[in-house]
Amino acid sequence: MKQLIFGWDTSIGVWAFVLLSFLFNQPASLWVLMVAGFCAYLPDLDFIPFLALRRRFNVTVGHWVFGHYPIIVLPLEAAVVGIITSIAWPGHVIFLVTLVLVCTSGHFIHDASALPYGFQLLAPITKDGRVRFPIPLTEEHPMDLYTHYRIGWGKIIGIAPRELTQKMYDDCEDWTKSGGSEIGGRVEPVTTYQITAFWLGIAGIVILVIKNGLTWPF
Ligand SMILES: [Zn+2]
Repeated sequence: MKQLIFGWDTSIGVWAFVLLSFLFNQPASLWVLMVAGFCAYLPDLDFIPFLALRRRFNVTVGHWVFGHYPIIVLPLEAAVVGIITSIAWPGHVIFLVTLVLVCTSGHFIHDASALPYGFQLLAPITKDGRVRFPIPLTEEHPMDLYTHYRIGWGKIIGIAPRELTQKMYDDCEDWTKSGGSEIGGRVEPVTTYQITAFWLGIAGIVILVIKNGLTWPF
């Protein structure tokens, strides 16, 4: 839960909401903030088909599929949000479509920074130019797939010390037996960088409300 509140994807959603509301001169809107937060986590909804199908197909690694194909997800997301907004909230199509694309792209960039198998931004197209579903198709343990950031990223986003990550994994139950641990294994320990980013985002919301006002409840 702590990871969900302070996780990078939450801050991506909050920051995108604040910056784009200013850019498009919009008042702070609770439901727009909720849309931003949802879209910052949208790709991870692919854990639902994974949980539902993992026993039938005997897969141990299932996350980072379906929802993590940027070249499919982003155009589809833009089309769906564009159509709904043009009907339900005319005049705000560019604002809302830009917001959801920035939030979901931020999620992809965050995931793509993982080492050694940071997910491929061009998935489902593989490095050798073929199309393969799902990606990553690997027997590698989830714990070996994530939380190892590409060189240079660690400094920028202040990753948790390796020992702390290892301890969190050790506390988890057997990976192969539980679907939940597949997801838990991808979560990073909360760092001071993340907490700082979160509170900066909250400060941004306060400034937005003071400057542009608040539409309440919608
Ligand atoms: Zn993800």
